[in-house]
Amino acid sequence: MSIMKDRLSRPLQDLRISITDKCNFRCQYCMPADIFGPDFKFLPKNDILSFEEIERLAAAFSKLGVSKLRITGGEPLLRKDVASLISRLHQIPGIKDIGLTTNGVLLPRLAIDLVNAGLHRVNVSLDALNDDIFKKINGRGVSSKVVLKGIKAARDAGLGVKVNMVVQKGVNESEIIPMARHFKDMGVALRYIEFMDVGNSNGWDFSKVVTKKEIFGMLSDHFDLEPMDPNYFGEVAKRYRYKNTDTEVGFITSVSESFCSSCTRARISADGKFYTCLFASKGYDLRGLVRACKEEEPLINEISSIWNQRKDRYSDERTEESAKSKEKIEMSYIGG
Ligand code: SAM
Ligand code: SF4
Ligand code: SF4
Repeated sequence: MSIMKDRLSRPLQDLRISITDKCNFRCQYCMPADIFGPDFKFLPKNDILSFEEIERLAAAFSKLGVSKLRITGGEPLLRKDVASLISRLHQIPGIKDIGLTTNGVLLPRLAIDLVNAGLHRVNVSLDALNDDIFKKINGRGVSSKVVLKGIKAARDAGLGVKVNMVVQKGVNESEIIPMARHFKDMGVALRYIEFMDVGNSNGWDFSKVVTKKEIFGMLSDHFDLEPMDPNYFGEVAKRYRYKNTDTEVGFITSVSESFCSSCTRARISADGKFYTCLFASKGYDLRGLVRACKEEEPLINEISSIWNQRKDRYSDERTEESAKSKEKIEMSYIGG
């Protein structure tokens, strides 16, 4: 397969595909229940890309150098027959790695089918072990035990597993050390994510962010950590290892140490819009093109022309003012 990386002025390695904007949770930092209530209008069915359309888009991206895919949402495991999508994506030449981000609830039911279809890894979101805290955060009263069962099912099925914890000041800082201990003992990588100002509905401000520096300081009182080299250019997590173990702990520092200059990630929403930044207001419609024309070349041309115009540096330039006033897409729509 010929890869046309030379058509791009900046590398594009990694594609996140949202396959639904619906979710069975209402995490307060992502889909606050007062906004995403019974009257909230989710995407109509006809607007959502079919698996065939997603496969054709992913194949076009792969021709431009994308080798890693991540399936996300909303909650991607709510989409019917998601394993058959994985199986289609797995067969695209050039795709070397397929991951999925999930709240974990449906993993006990689906993990084996997903592995058999070609999924390599999952990131499971869990923000607290303590049930009082976790039930409040997820907005649906779901116990952390349910997610832990999902993590176990994923590992038993042979998936690579990482755990994502979004840390919010005054909400779950008390869980930083218990989560570290628990997942260190299990040999599972934990990644602390700084609370981000994605979308306009989660009431974000700087004072609610617990920075990597603060978290690292807390961890250092309990554990010896050593830095690890990045696995590849553009790796987002800053990774450390607990000394004398193979278990790692990472940080996603979008707020305190931004990484826009090495951003190689594109995103597609469930309704087929192409976003060149997580904090964008506007996406570029690819659904019209994928539905109107069966050839791949026009898709490749459109994707490369959009990527080549890209100047995104939102996190590098973030201010309290831009975080509040800029209109941004919601996290549950674009998938992180
Ligand atoms: N529902 C799936 C899940 O929760 O893993 C996938 C979609 S979710 C939008 C993807 C990731 O974004 C999750 O790890 C979630 O914790 C994270 N996330 C959501 N809102 C966030 C925010 N405001 N700041 C930082 N991370 C956030
Ligand atoms: Fe749903 Fe994931 Fe958002 Fe939580 S973070 S509300 S599980 S999409
Ligand atoms: Fe990439 Fe936008 Fe995040 Fe910067 S803010 S790293 S450009 S997605």
